[in-house]
Amino acid sequence: MGIRVVARVRPQQSHELGKDVIVSTASNADSEQPTLVKIPNPKNESEDFTFQFSSVYDQSATQQQIFDNEVSPTIKHLFNGFDVTIFAYGSTGTGKTHTMRGGKTLAERGAIPRLLSGIYRKARKIAKDSDGQTTVEITLSYYEIYNDKVFDLFEAPEKRTLAGLPLRDNGSKTVVVGLTERPCESLKEFETLYDQANINRSTSATKLNAASSRSHAILGIKIAVTTGDETRTSTTSAIDLAGSEDNRRTQNGKERMVESASINKSLFTLAKCVEAISQKDARIPYRESKMTRILSLGQNNGLTVMILNLAPIRSFHLDTLSSLNFANRTK
Ligand code: ADP
Ligand code: MG
Repeated sequence: MGIRVVARVRPQQSHELGKDVIVSTASNADSEQPTLVKIPNPKNESEDFTFQFSSVYDQSATQQQIFDNEVSPTIKHLFNGFDVTIFAYGSTGTGKTHTMRGGKTLAERGAIPRLLSGIYRKARKIAKDSDGQTTVEITLSYYEIYNDKVFDLFEAPEKRTLAGLPLRDNGSKTVVVGLTERPCESLKEFETLYDQANINRSTSATKLNAASSRSHAILGIKIAVTTGDETRTSTTSAIDLAGSEDNRRTQNGKERMVESASINKSLFTLAKCVEAISQKDARIPYRESKMTRILSLGQNNGLTVMILNLAPIRSFHLDTLSSLNFANRTK
């Protein structure tokens, strides 16, 4: 089913008001919705670079709009047995966590809780419409990849081993050995699990003297729809990626260098995979990083949605440009 890449420019934060806004959005002649992002050439500011996307969201876009337009349409695929992968890509501070997890209020809820809400609603409808003949089982996993090691976010941080969880090839699939797979029956149960896991994420980051922005957080949602003796399954992966800032510029000290090397490697592999998928190239180099290997990225005839998060102000200029160039490889 391929890949869809959209861009979202976040609003200025209160402490950024009065700063120089350099990113703008525009629409193509043939569409009402914005599809273009413009940013000055850092070497010659009188010239703008223009990037085109399937859709572009400016700072007025709501969480509801992002969900309705980009995430909600994937739900029907999930219940038909297709896999869906949703990434938030961008440098630290551009709105990835806001887009995926969101804030506490209903209006601020991000794509992930809204997706789960939609999935449980659809599951109830299927059960009702089939008079209970069709059942839906939902199983969750949640893990982070930090320094190319996999850690279970459904486990207490004390239970972590330094080495992380091993991977094993199981036929055409790669499995994370020992990863918790939790059956989850309701949105309410999900919210409790997800909140606790996010606390685990920040606790362990603090212990490692790292920032959670240096790890990829991956929520896996397995849906099994059973009618009689036939079961259709799909996996959705919703990913809040590590910050894509230029790690050569931001690194300081040995610890950060190890982190940066593994972040660069996995984002570089991700870029190559995304490029191969968009060009319908059968050779997707998904085995070259742990994350793309676990996701079997592009292997299951599924759908990939990439949300490119961008900050509007000048201090992000080079990072914004490098994110836009990353996304450009998908054309
Ligand atoms: P990242 O996860 O990419 O590092 P965050 O999601 O933490 O970035 O966003 C950085 C800050 O900007 C946070 O305070 C967040 O609440 C705010 N923010 C990001 N996107 C939006 C948005 N669309 N609307 C309002 N605030 C936002
Ligand atoms: Mg974040």
